[in-house]
Amino acid sequence: MVKADRIDHIGIVVRSIEEKLGFYRSFLGLELDGIEELPERGLKVAFLKVGDTRIELLESTKSDSEISGFLEKRGEGIHHIAYHVDDIVEAIKKASSMGYRPLSKEPAVGAGGVKVAFLHPKTTGGILVELVEGSH
Ligand code: ZN
Repeated sequence: MVKADRIDHIGIVVRSIEEKLGFYRSFLGLELDGIEELPERGLKVAFLKVGDTRIELLESTKSDSEISGFLEKRGEGIHHIAYHVDDIVEAIKKASSMGYRPLSKEPAVGAGGVKVAFLHPKTTGGILVELVEGSH
């Protein structure tokens, strides 16, 4: 097992971060941690702190981004749940060996410079699972 020790964040797809910030900041009173552009993934992301964890808002910045398929098929909503792990390379290996299919063999660099990897939702009960090593 990989012993995930906390929920790093919950990823939520939105059409416009700007439009949704009011709900998270003005209503829920969450603190905006920052907004970051990830051009190679076609994404703009905003992180908002909720205690030890965060909400990640994901907005598409191009028509063939990582989330455009999701947005077309399912609209706005919860996209993934991210668990923090100590060793992501080990976690990817373990996932494969236990039948949970990683979307890539190597970790990618996520927002804030952390290492991330995703597991296919068909192998995890319908939820896209992100593994995160490092902290923001
Ligand atoms: Zn994420």
